Amino acid sequence: MDKRDYYEVMGLSKDATADDIKKAYRQLAKKYHPDLHPGDKECEEKFKELNEANEILSDPDKRAKYDQFGHAAFDPSSGAGAGGGASGFEGFSGGFGGFDDIIGSIFSGFGFGGGSGSQRRNASMKGEDIRLYVDLTLEEAAFGCHKDINVTKTLPCDQCAGTGSKSKTKAKCANCGGTGYQRRVTNSFLGQMVREVPCDNCGGKGFTITDPCGACSGRGIVRKTVKVSADFPKGINEGQSLKKSGQGNVGINGGQNGDLYLSVRIKPNSQFTRKDFDIYQTIYLTYPQLVLGTVVKVAGLDQMFDVKIPEGTPSGKEFRIAGRGVPVLNSKNQRGDMYVTVQVVIPSKLNDSQKAILREFDDATDRILSTDKQADPKKGFFGKFKK
Ligand SMILES: [Zn+2]
Ligand SMILES: [Zn+2]
Repeated sequence: MDKRDYYEVMGLSKDATADDIKKAYRQLAKKYHPDLHPGDKECEEKFKELNEANEILSDPDKRAKYDQFGHAAFDPSSGAGAGGGASGFEGFSGGFGGFDDIIGSIFSGFGFGGGSGSQRRNASMKGEDIRLYVDLTLEEAAFGCHKDINVTKTLPCDQCAGTGSKSKTKAKCANCGGTGYQRRVTNSFLGQMVREVPCDNCGGKGFTITDPCGACSGRGIVRKTVKVSADFPKGINEGQSLKKSGQGNVGINGGQNGDLYLSVRIKPNSQFTRKDFDIYQTIYLTYPQLVLGTVVKVAGLDQMFDVKIPEGTPSGKEFRIAGRGVPVLNSKNQRGDMYVTVQVVIPSKLNDSQKAILREFDDATDRILSTDKQADPKKGFFGKFKK
């Protein structure tokens, strides 16, 4: 499939300013965010395409390359090679964060603009983000819940306070003076070339450890499973994430920690189906109950309530009970609605006297087929049999 022009994707002209790009991105990201269109594959694709276009156009270097070479600039097979380019979007394929949450994190660099290829080894780097799935019951997600979650992540070693040294001392590398780099002079047919390469002595870290810590083998970092407590707010839904800032993997060389994303999955429920903040269920009634009308007790999410079935209710009719659905996320008292569909039960085993009564009823009512609308003898399927 041919790729669309990035400017076209973002609805911009070639002379768009950095501000125009930022604005267009915010606007379109809100428009196509998958949380607003659950299950809509087309929107998901548009969102991905938008992110890709934004990554290129919001970076002056990449944008210049794109203006010159088009998509070929980022096609690894073409050799124009901008490196990285459009490949960094996998983070968005599985499970999206809550809307506010993800909008915030887009701009803080989640999955974007890593561009660490040319970074010095002793430069500080943000730790990696961690994404975990958490299975909640429908009720837990509806009313909110507290969970302690085991998270395996990298942490500073507590034996050596993250220094990697038994005595907690790091000596500045004598070879490179702590920069982590050394100059190397090579002679080639082009003449003498001076390059900066990682320091031989310290491997680019800028310091040396003479007494490596036994607990972390001198790395200063250990991998551990820790309990993270998380409060899932009422109304949270499948595919939304809770962001725990700074609870991901430890930052490198003093960089900030990564973030932890807890993506919600909802366990199947035998009674209810949830759609956004509304809840659906089916109840089963007898033919006389539907014909004569009744009041039935129905189990809601958190309490029993009465549903009035009027006389002559057809099977399959849906009743909307306002405010009995799932509490709305981030709202105080608002709740979605409950939809109750009534379904007639057809008994399969009747005894002789019961059958006799039913036949008598059928004769007495002259075989009325439920409502007049359905049984209009002048037209339709049933009419043909009556004549
Ligand atoms: Zn060194
Ligand atoms: Zn240690």
